[in-house]
Amino acid sequence: MSLTQDTLFTRIIRREIPADIVYEDNLAIAFRDINPQAPVHILVVPKEPIAQLSDAESQNHALMGHLLLTVKRVAAQLGLENGYRVVINNGADGGQTVPHLHLHLLGGRPLLWPPG
Ligand code: 5GP
Repeated sequence: MSLTQDTLFTRIIRREIPADIVYEDNLAIAFRDINPQAPVHILVVPKEPIAQLSDAESQNHALMGHLLLTVKRVAAQLGLENGYRVVINNGADGGQTVPHLHLHLLGGRPLLWPPG
């Protein structure tokens, strides 16, 4: 899939909207959330604009693994050796507001459970 489908995050990928980018490779980008819910709050986003996790297909298998390993890499890069949380909001009941798959990486403080 190309980047012709416009989402807020494809516009960040194309540098049309500024973001504090902490990591990028050919498949994914990671940048700081504009409204952080923890001292470290990063969004890890595939460059392929899959709308939400429930739209991922078996052909996206390798990309899905890459996104998780990217979270691990960014967490280490940002010094989250005490732990962190990874969240994917999926669809309306999941609280998803941007229709482009993204993994939230949250850390830098103890996080409560359940998340509400
Ligand atoms: P969702 O609610 O879809 O799981 O997460 C979307 C996230 O995108 C939210 O945490 C929100 O703060 C973040 N966000 C929305 N607009 C922008 C933006 O323009 N820049 C950045 N860096 N984050 C954004």
